[in-house]
Amino acid sequence: MNERMNERLLLQSYLRTLRLPTMLREYVQVARQCAEQNTDYEEFLERLTEQEILNRSVKATARRLKLANFPAPKELSDFRFSAVPHLNKQKMLELARCEFIAKKSNIVFLGPPGVGKTHLSIGIAREACRRGHRVRFFTAAGLVNIYLEAREERKLLRLEANIRRSDLIIIDELGYIPLDKVGAEHLFGFFSQCYEQVSLIVTTNLPFAQWPQTFAGDERLTGALLDRLTHRVNIVDIQGESYRLGASLADREGLSENPKQDSLQDQPEDPKQDSLPDQPEDSHPTNDNPSEPETT
Ligand code: ADP
Ligand code: MG
Repeated sequence: MNERMNERLLLQSYLRTLRLPTMLREYVQVARQCAEQNTDYEEFLERLTEQEILNRSVKATARRLKLANFPAPKELSDFRFSAVPHLNKQKMLELARCEFIAKKSNIVFLGPPGVGKTHLSIGIAREACRRGHRVRFFTAAGLVNIYLEAREERKLLRLEANIRRSDLIIIDELGYIPLDKVGAEHLFGFFSQCYEQVSLIVTTNLPFAQWPQTFAGDERLTGALLDRLTHRVNIVDIQGESYRLGASLADREGLSENPKQDSLQDQPEDPKQDSLPDQPEDSHPTNDNPSEPETT
């Protein structure tokens, strides 16, 4: 009995040393199940390791979602595509499969405030986290501040190394606040660094032709920046009324409805639309559009 006890303690210490906490927690129960079901040793080991791996992947996804620092947990499944009929829903679902990240291509969401640019960006980026990609969310102004602070504290190299370690970075609200010359140069440095290394999702209210006004009026620098950003890009132009404004007007008039009722789930005409399959159909290749900066 004592010997049996010692063996258990030894096994537990081995599992701790090998950092297998789920196996440590579950092995007694799985062993009991396997004994009851008369399964062989291999099956026992397989079930146990499977649980360890599943648990690890759940934890890793939670960690990536936390690290991404999203301002709100927006999901693509909560987006009412029917409110934006000209938006290509299939294209959004295709982007959410995240092949654009492997290709180091970018997405630009363009449109007035309140049409869902940030919501869609976060929805796609959360899906990227679930697929194992490292994601970061910044507002354009926030990122400029981070650069300024890093420069002051002589930590620019560390910041740049951090950026390089990401797979996807969201730059939200570019163009809302005009940058000064130093801010514009930092952001230009950022875009150069990410070119063909890190995928970007940029949301902006400004058509490309007006971007120089955000970048301290520097046409040359803005041209070079757009050249890199749009080399491989999916441009999603969302026009329309503000969803926020629409929702608050509907509230006031007592017309409020549950937005979730009209989410991805209730468009039964094409059941494929509801899921985010791993493999894209050949008929929907990523439309990497090397379009001109003027395209809006
Ligand atoms: P933008 O970034 O274009 O200014 P947001 O993505 O922040 O707009 O959207 C504003 C608010 O309205 C958010 O709370 C967002 O979740 C919601 N919203 C916008 N469009 C839709 C939509 N089509 N379906 C559901 N919610 C939406
Ligand atoms: Mg926004």
